[in-house]
Amino acid sequence: APAPPPARHLFSDPAEVEALRGNLLAWYDRCKRDLPWRALAAMEPDADRRGYAVWVSEIMLQQTQVATVIDYYNRWMQKWPTLQALAQASLEEVNELWAGLGYYSRGKRLQEAAKKVVSELSGRMPRTAEDLQKLLPGVGRYTAGAIASISYGQATGVVDGNVIRVLCRLRCIGADSSSPAVIDRLWDMANVLVDSSRPGDFNQALMELGATVCVPKAPLCGECPVKQHCQAWRRKLFGNRPPVPDVEDCCVGDCPLCPPATEPWDSSLGVTNFPRKAAKKPPRAMRTATCVLERRGCHGAPEYLIVQRPSSGLLAGLWEFPSLPLAQDLQEKKEREELADHLQAWMGQPVAAKGLQFIGEVIHIFSHIHQTYVVYSLHLDGDVALDPALSPSRWVTKDEFYASAVSTAMKKV
Ligand code: SF4
Repeated sequence: APAPPPARHLFSDPAEVEALRGNLLAWYDRCKRDLPWRALAAMEPDADRRGYAVWVSEIMLQQTQVATVIDYYNRWMQKWPTLQALAQASLEEVNELWAGLGYYSRGKRLQEAAKKVVSELSGRMPRTAEDLQKLLPGVGRYTAGAIASISYGQATGVVDGNVIRVLCRLRCIGADSSSPAVIDRLWDMANVLVDSSRPGDFNQALMELGATVCVPKAPLCGECPVKQHCQAWRRKLFGNRPPVPDVEDCCVGDCPLCPPATEPWDSSLGVTNFPRKAAKKPPRAMRTATCVLERRGCHGAPEYLIVQRPSSGLLAGLWEFPSLPLAQDLQEKKEREELADHLQAWMGQPVAAKGLQFIGEVIHIFSHIHQTYVVYSLHLDGDVALDPALSPSRWVTKDEFYASAVSTAMKKV
């Protein structure tokens, strides 16, 4: 069995754990942000509704800022206040409400899981983190822990990006924070730290600290309620004169949680030496030709053709202007010809490549793709018979376009 990590990377003193919990919760009670899902979690007497309300917020908050989520969350809960209401919604409605929030499969999976709770679990939310993770599709370890602790008071820890940062700083963990070995240690630590009398508040407090005080670039250590428990802060204060023995010593051997010997503590970075991550793979570059096809609608207002993307993969089921992924380094003439051929398939009539007007390029960064849309437009005279054998398509006015389930990237286009 691997040797346990040195005690200095752990919370092994019960008195310190108790003090840290008290300081963190007192700060949270004073400073916590007023957020709609917190109000619902605190006031909703129905346990299934409460679990559902927290679940929706946790899914929306994955990879999305709190400020962006609030409005989406309020609209979602107004439209589908219960699991049963969400289970009856169409995917199209879900995509429309989700449009602009990004990572669209989250909304789809949430709705599929709601259907499952209604049809297979009689509408009853699982009450423990273990069951939530096991029974609900799309609910991973973090989301399960968050729902169980916040909605049902289960004393179970959570580890998300904010918690990783805070814990790595509190305990000077400088090994790659995305490695399974470090992540496992952080989960152990979160489970040790969580306050059994207020687990939901404790978990939210730790995340809140990471979001508002122990932020990535310029943490506000002077205002931090747990600075007296923070090894990174001590290290910053004392620097190398005199060395802090318990932290310094650890770097000598091959400690699995210390920074690698090749990348030691950099005093110019202070506490932001932690956490450290292995370099991310750069996003893949993609080019896509897209054409805004415009016609005069029956009332004279312009209308635009949008088509639906396949039901799986990137931006599944969303609507977009007819688009075609391009090979890299294609010449402009060839790009036009390929796009013209693609449009011909939609319109059932020849499209002259030189009739396509080049508008410009739009860059949109997805998490793993650096996408460049090469945008053309084409004005059509007369009607076009759309081929029903192809993917669904429809003509929309500008207002209808914005109300449709279209991605932020297409709105930029
Ligand atoms: Fe983060 Fe600074 Fe607080 Fe340590 S003292 S937990 S680095 S904000």
